[in-house]
Amino acid sequence: MWSVSRVECYEKCPYQYRLRYLDGVGVLDDYEADNPLTCGTALHEVIELGAEKAARNYFSKFPVVTDEQVTEMMKIEVLGRRAKALLPKGEYEHKVAFYGFIGFIDLMVRREGRKVDIYDFKHCGKMSREKYITESPQLHAYKYYLESVEDVEVEHLYYVFVPKVQEERRQDEDIIDYRYRLMDLCRETKIDIVEIPYQAKKVGKLVEGRKAMESAKEFPKVQSALCNWCDYQDYCYKGEDWMILPKAERKANPKKGFLKVWLYGAPYSGKTYMADKFPMPLLLNTDGNVRETTAPCIAIRDEVKMNGKAKQVKMAWSVFKEAVEELEKGSEFRTIVVDLVEDVYESCRLYMYDKLGITHESDDSFRAWDKVRLEFLSTMRRLTNLDCNIVLISQEDVSRDITKKGGDRMSTVQPVLNDKIARKISGMVDVTARCVHDEKGYWIVFHTDETQFGGGRMEVKQNIVPATIENLMGACQMKYEGDSEHIQAIEGQWNELKVEDSKTVAKEPEIVAEAPTTVVKEPIPAPEPSAKVVEDIPQPITRRVRRPRSND
Ligand code: SF4
Repeated sequence: MWSVSRVECYEKCPYQYRLRYLDGVGVLDDYEADNPLTCGTALHEVIELGAEKAARNYFSKFPVVTDEQVTEMMKIEVLGRRAKALLPKGEYEHKVAFYGFIGFIDLMVRREGRKVDIYDFKHCGKMSREKYITESPQLHAYKYYLESVEDVEVEHLYYVFVPKVQEERRQDEDIIDYRYRLMDLCRETKIDIVEIPYQAKKVGKLVEGRKAMESAKEFPKVQSALCNWCDYQDYCYKGEDWMILPKAERKANPKKGFLKVWLYGAPYSGKTYMADKFPMPLLLNTDGNVRETTAPCIAIRDEVKMNGKAKQVKMAWSVFKEAVEELEKGSEFRTIVVDLVEDVYESCRLYMYDKLGITHESDDSFRAWDKVRLEFLSTMRRLTNLDCNIVLISQEDVSRDITKKGGDRMSTVQPVLNDKIARKISGMVDVTARCVHDEKGYWIVFHTDETQFGGGRMEVKQNIVPATIENLMGACQMKYEGDSEHIQAIEGQWNELKVEDSKTVAKEPEIVAEAPTTVVKEPIPAPEPSAKVVEDIPQPITRRVRRPRSND
């Protein structure tokens, strides 16, 4: 199977082509509001499916929605509606498949007889626009292959250029005024429909490129300005691999059935209790609240030793890293619990301050944020790559607001962790869920709307379930639907647990008390999962399904 984008990727940089298409190296999801792929998909969907559905799909791609995402979607909505008003009626996403070639025509419009026109939508800046017009073989290839497989004659080839509108928010501007200004710009900006003449030689060149791609033995790096938009830039330039997703086939005998979950919630919501119920757990604990747990524990805190009169301090982050290094060598533990992630992040910051000789990231803003982030995420990546269950635990933060499209302000619920770090961590686990305690019991809440952080690379059929290990497992199993080996391995783990449970006398679950994290200064009010939440139990949700957008 080949496509225009595959050949273009190979011609732009063979090394990138190898990573993406031959080695299948994935990267963590990019949760930036203006991510080109996410925004391009949203624009196509506004045109094809309507603004409401497009917005729902766009927001579902983020663990939690912030003002940036709301603003970005407002721009896309205005631009998409305007583009749609300029287009004739036709068939969207028309598939073209011909002897291994595959492509999707954004819009095909049937005219009289066999004649059709084809349109391709581009959400791009001025420079890219010129490149599409003069260099891209895409529309030419679509015409050639469409006429080869269907009884049609493609008469007109059009690009629909929807420009990007980017403006910084002024310091004295509130979010509402900023959005008004942006909407005005979106209404004024020019959307062009540009017809291009068919050039058969571009199809010939594309076929030559395909032959070179398929016979290539070497894949050199081609560094250029385009590297700034390459998913693998950090890996390629600096060897940093924390963002690279592990590939099952890299391991000779990948162990299946292990789950990676991130639980967050208010104090006393049952997070640690749930983690303690996982098979053979080891607790990496930062807050000392381990009295009610049965799991062996390593305290992640500064270790002070007196050597004569000299005081030696091993920083908490070094203790954590050493634990990860030891676990990488292999252990009997089948579950590693990190309780609490935000404390571990803080210990990483302090460790890096000490190493860099600074007192805050802003003392060396060029490098420090980057270095702290890299140190923390690369270690968390190593941890989540371990062949065992991983349970990350965080407190919740209900102090952050978003301003919705209509100007209403709404509180969000998310883990107590820097936004960017939190988004990356959520990409490392199978599922992120919120633990809630109300008068009716303990609950696990999966991602329900844009104001509640959650999700993961899986679909969840129920928004809220009683907080039991079985229910959490059931949700996680969804991710592995179709992978019977993985599901059997998961079931194996839980069947063993049931046997162990039946040997012990059943008693009421006692919820482990948790001290407020060091990051949260104010006591956090417990959430109020109302009766409505409980009534929501049977409602299925389907989310995070990315529609195929590229030509692959
Ligand atoms: S960063 Fe540049 S050289 Fe490296 S893979 Fe990406 S495009 Fe190629």
